[in-house]
Amino acid sequence: MREREMIRIHCSELGIADCDWVASGETPGDLVRDVVAHLGDDHGVDMPDAETILEGNYIEDPVMGDKDEGAAIIVRRLREALNIEPRVEGLDAPSVMAPPPQT
Ligand SMILES: [Zn+2]
Repeated sequence: MREREMIRIHCSELGIADCDWVASGETPGDLVRDVVAHLGDDHGVDMPDAETILEGNYIEDPVMGDKDEGAAIIVRRLREALNIEPRVEGLDAPSVMAPPPQT
């Protein structure tokens, strides 16, 4: 069985200082779903759907007072860590594939 490279993110990297939980997955989608579940269950953070994060449709809007400010920071860090670009108009699939390396 070929071992694929796993993506890992520490909870502390996302801004939860006193947590040593680590998310791991073969795809950004797997990982984001894990992170959303963990943050909701263990930290009470009201995260948007994994699909929303992956598609890049989550808008950080300070006017929306009912949004958890911590969640906005976590989403931004998560997307930066996974190199998730905003969804391109006209594509059916979210752009969660890593772009080919530029030469
Ligand atoms: Zn945690």
